[in-house]
Amino acid sequence: FLGRRKQQKWLICRVWRHVLHKGDIVIDATCGNGYDTVAMLKMVADESGHGRVYGIDIQTEALENTSSLLDETVTQKEKELVKLFPICHSRMDEVLPENTAVRLVAFNLGYLPGGDQGIITTSKTTLLALEASKKMLILGGLISLVVYVGHPGGREELETVEAFASGLCVDGWICCKFQMLNRPLAPVLVFIFKR
Ligand code: SAM
Repeated sequence: FLGRRKQQKWLICRVWRHVLHKGDIVIDATCGNGYDTVAMLKMVADESGHGRVYGIDIQTEALENTSSLLDETVTQKEKELVKLFPICHSRMDEVLPENTAVRLVAFNLGYLPGGDQGIITTSKTTLLALEASKKMLILGGLISLVVYVGHPGGREELETVEAFASGLCVDGWICCKFQMLNRPLAPVLVFIFKR
């Protein structure tokens, strides 16, 4: 059996792999220590230098960790496909070139593991980032979220994400969540597919 965290990670990667193609453009909206950035890069980078990961985090410390992890785990050529931005993800549309066709926007909410637990995603900016993601996503694309509910504000953030997803029109979007019924504090996964 996989560990509990690894089970969720395994599921998320399966879903990403189902949606992504080599050469795709994706956004990691919460780079943190860079594990998701690397996982997405491996899925979209192709031999001829196509594919791109736009990585965003509000903390420069997180982007430094992401850059170091990239140095350790991918080739220089692959690393050149990653662009990192030290901004709030609610401003993602300001840094991406106009009309960029994004296949995946991934959020892993909460605070930086091993970092300052006071710097944390908030309902207000998460909602703004979801609205921005919605506009940039291509048909067949995905917004994926890992939402932590064990810290103050976490449940409220989940409610905000759920309200956003529930309000999307059924003809254009498929919205679902994965929740561990026997582990109430486990992170909740939300997948928002654009048809
Ligand atoms: N996906 C990461 C990984 O694989 O290591 C973990 C992400 S961590 C749980 C959450 C990250 O969100 C933290 O690094 C934090 O700095 C960042 N963050 C918090 N508020 C943010 C915001 N408004 N915009 C962008 N990033 C934010």
